[in-house]
Order: sequence, then C-alpha cells, then structure tokens
Amino acid sequence: MRLQGKVALITGGASGIGLATVRKFVREGAKVMIADINLEQAEAAAAEIAGEGHEGSVAAVGVNVSVYAEVEAAVARTVEIFGSLDVIFNNAGIAGGRPLLEHDPAVDYEPIIRVDQDGVYYGILAAGRQFKQQGTGGVIISTSSIYGEQAAELSFTYSAAKAAVISFTRSAAYELAEYGVRAVAITPGRVGTPIINQFSEELKATFAAEQLRNKLTRPEEIADVVAFLASDEANAINGTVVSVDDGYSVF
Ligand code: NAD
Repeated sequence: MRLQGKVALITGGASGIGLATVRKFVREGAKVMIADINLEQAEAAAAEIAGEGHEGSVAAVGVNVSVYAEVEAAVARTVEIFGSLDVIFNNAGIAGGRPLLEHDPAVDYEPIIRVDQDGVYYGILAAGRQFKQQGTGGVIISTSSIYGEQAAELSFTYSAAKAAVISFTRSAAYELAEYGVRAVAITPGRVGTPIINQFSEELKATFAAEQLRNKLTRPEEIADVVAFLASDEANAINGTVVSVDDGYSVF
C-alpha cells in the first residue's frame, strides 16, 4: 500500500475525480478528509466508504474553497481528526462560460476565478503553513486542465484559472522546497464525471473522439496517477505538470 500512514485532504472529494481519488487513497492505506462545498454528499460518501471496511480512515468536512478561513479550518479539522497532514489535493473546480463578448463579469469571470484559482491558492497556502509547522514535508497536487495550456471555446476564464494553477505549482515547489514540500499539477482532458456526463450522448461522443483511442478518461484512471504522485515513489517529480489527458494534446 503506497500511501500507508499518510493523511490527505481532498477538495471536491464528494464527486468525480475527487471521489475516485478518495477511494483510491483509502485503498492505498491513507486516511482521507473529504472536503467539499456539498457537505451532504461528502458525508454520504464518507459513510459509504467507511462501511466498506474502512472505518476510521475517512471523514468529511464542509468547505467553500473560495474562502481562505474555511480552507484553513478544513486543514485544522484534518489534523484534529487524523493527527497530521501529508498531502493536499486541490481539486475542487467549476466549469462554464460564454463567448467573451457576452460576458457578465459577475457571472462568467468572478465565480470561476474564486473557485478554480483562489481555491487552489488558498489550499497551497493553508497546507504549506501546516507542512512548515509540522516539519515533515508534504505533497501538494492540484488539478489544472488541458485548458490551462491552450485557448478553448467558452473557456476564457476557466483557461486563465487553470493556467494559474500551473504557475502556482511551479512557484509553490520553489518557495516550499526548504520545508521538504513537493508540488505537482495534473492536466486532465475529457473525464467522465458529472461535469461531462450532463451533456448529450452526441456531445460526449465528440469529446471522446478528441482523445486518442476514442475514449473519455475514467475518473479512476486519474486517481491512479494522483495516488502515485502523492506517494514517495514520485519523489523526483516536483514543480511540474503531469499530463493525464489520454492523448488529447497530441492533436
Ligand atoms: P465534479 O463536478 O464531479 O466535482 C467537483 C467537486 O467540486 C464537486 O463535488 C463540487 O461540489 C466541488 N466544489 C465545487 N465548488 C466548490 C467550492 N467552492 N468549494 C469546495 N468544493 C467545491 O467535477 P470533476 O470533473 O471531478 O472536476 C474535478 C476537477 O477536475 C475540477 O477542478 C475540474 O475543473 C477538473 N477537470 C475536469 C475535467 C473533466 O473533463 N471532468 C477535465 C479537466 C479538468
């Protein structure tokens, strides 16, 4: 079990990529705090996983990652329940957007920046402070996107926020190295989660066709990579982007 003895906090852990990663981390021996704005769904997931033979390995906390005090409180709650923090997976995110010239900044800019950009910054800051205080090192993994590296339709703000995630990752690796902290960003392509599953079968087929082997990525496939990145086996991977886009970016 590659995460035996590690404690992780996973934002957006109640659904999609986050939930698949919670399950994978617990199977790999970690203790995991599911941190999500949807507390009901987070608690239900925690109860279900605990009931599958993982009692004491999983808990839930409500957090809006757009509010620093809430992120700090989620870190504190994790330490209170599990004794420390070793890994943060800054994964909570929202998508959406309209053509640029139709933007209402209050709808198409501010909410996405608050969650997808500010939320990752707050996660890095709160976890970084905890790692420094513990003196144990730590790992920061953050979910960017293929859109963080390219322009895309209806994604003016989302692309900017996801690009910031990559920049934060490089700078965090640089600034926190003296505390033994590593930071890595991942760039998923088209993943079969509620963000994508809300669309018509036709649009989902189009998304699948954008990736080599004509498939959407399964959230579990992303979770496998995140577990590896969080483990000591990935100790040489730092300050960089790991592509998990099923070949999307070869086009
Ligand atoms: P999802 O909607 O299944 O999960 C997102 C989770 O984040 C939900 O549980 C939601 O409640 C939570 N959340 C939303 N706003 C929050 C907030 N303010 N505070 C705390 N939690 C909040 O989506 P997903 O596809 O699993 O997305 C996870 C991450 O992956 C996101 O950052 C997304 O941008 C990124 N991503 C997804 C895809 C894809 O194709 N699905 C592709 C690239 C990147």
